[in-house]
Amino acid sequence: MILTYKIKHEQDFVNELGKAVKVAKFAIKHKSRSSKDVKHFGLKSMISNQILKKYSKNKKCKNVHSVKLTIPNQGIKANQEKRIINVPCLKLELKYYFPNNFTKINQIEVDNKYAYISCEFKDKPEIQVNNYVGVDRNTTGHIAVAAMPSNGKVYKLGKKAYHIHRKYKKIRAHLQKKNAKKKLKKIKHRERNIIKDINHKTSRKIVEIAKENKCGIVLEDLKGIRKGKKNSKKNKTGESFKSSINSWEFYQLQTMIEYKAKICGIPLVYVDPKYTSQKCSRCGLIAKNNRKGKKYTCTKCGHVDHADANAAFNIAALASPEKENSMSMSNDQLVQDRDCTKGNTDIPQLETQLLEKEVA
Ligand SMILES: [Zn+2]
Repeated sequence: MILTYKIKHEQDFVNELGKAVKVAKFAIKHKSRSSKDVKHFGLKSMISNQILKKYSKNKKCKNVHSVKLTIPNQGIKANQEKRIINVPCLKLELKYYFPNNFTKINQIEVDNKYAYISCEFKDKPEIQVNNYVGVDRNTTGHIAVAAMPSNGKVYKLGKKAYHIHRKYKKIRAHLQKKNAKKKLKKIKHRERNIIKDINHKTSRKIVEIAKENKCGIVLEDLKGIRKGKKNSKKNKTGESFKSSINSWEFYQLQTMIEYKAKICGIPLVYVDPKYTSQKCSRCGLIAKNNRKGKKYTCTKCGHVDHADANAAFNIAALASPEKENSMSMSNDQLVQDRDCTKGNTDIPQLETQLLEKEVA
């Protein structure tokens, strides 16, 4: 698996980046692949070679305005003990905090602000699991709600996103009235960054839960979340939070869970989202009206639960359908445990930091 990490550097590469543009323009015009031809631009031949390789065969590209400096593996030195990466040809030194168990750095791309480091990781063999943690992503006020049928625990994650969306919706409306397009763009960007950070923490926490309990992760196969702007699953409560969530947020969280789980060797399965919010996780009755707002009340067995937690338990149970019949029995015993562990367990910062160290 290849993952790319972005690190801010404090160096000025304006000169070098200017030369890179010249080399790229030359490559497009002359289809040259020899660094001797572009020696007069003064760019290091190792970097020139990468640019020539990329642009000389690109037929569609007519002009370029910005080109990143690409340094191949042989131009990179990594000291994994000290967590320092060196790029001698640019006199660039980078301290890194991402997982330290990469096997190779494929390449580094540099612009005037960031270095993009592509690292290769060995996939860990998948661990054997008997249980799954179910993750409901289309919730009534959180980024995700996770539930562990094996011990009845419920984790409500990323509550902050709800407030962020509300806050920025107001700001956006205000700016739209004033027609302040530049500010609008900036605000949109800021909101995206905050959500990305919440998604990182949420995904880390979910993988951490799975790791601690030696179980797999179950997600709903929310089709169309890549393409559609709004989530494809029908609104459960019609609250404004959900309609304001864009599909990219679900997809981003999904991708983050996917690669974080893969690094740790944790199995991830997808299940059909049909009825997960309408079904009683205790007796299996499917009834649309059992769900009212944030509350799920079963008209058959009397089970009362947080609606998202109920859905998350259903999602978890779907990962092992052969267990579903015995599920209802064990679930009965677990209802008490579950009620005890109810409550808000939003992401504790320290724990998530710990995981990062562990992964490393
Ligand atoms: Zn029931």
